[in-house]
Amino acid sequence: MAEPVFVGDVILTRKPHPCGGSQWAVIRTGADVKMRCLTCGRIVMLDLESFLRRRKAVLSHPEQQAAAADSGAGSV
Ligand SMILES: [Zn+2]
Repeated sequence: MAEPVFVGDVILTRKPHPCGGSQWAVIRTGADVKMRCLTCGRIVMLDLESFLRRRKAVLSHPEQQAAAADSGAGSV
């Protein structure tokens, strides 16, 4: 059920960050996953299990980023 994690993925968390954003970019994977809040820029590191528990959806994979950037205006 759980999808693998890739560097460059943009993911949605179940709970929003205190800054109000819930979209994150994965910047490192492995036993621990590092992700950056796309709203405030803060970087958080979670072990893989916690990461998978918090992840609600994958919004884009790295190969889709170029296309997503074109239509990226108007995100919350
Ligand atoms: Zn944030």
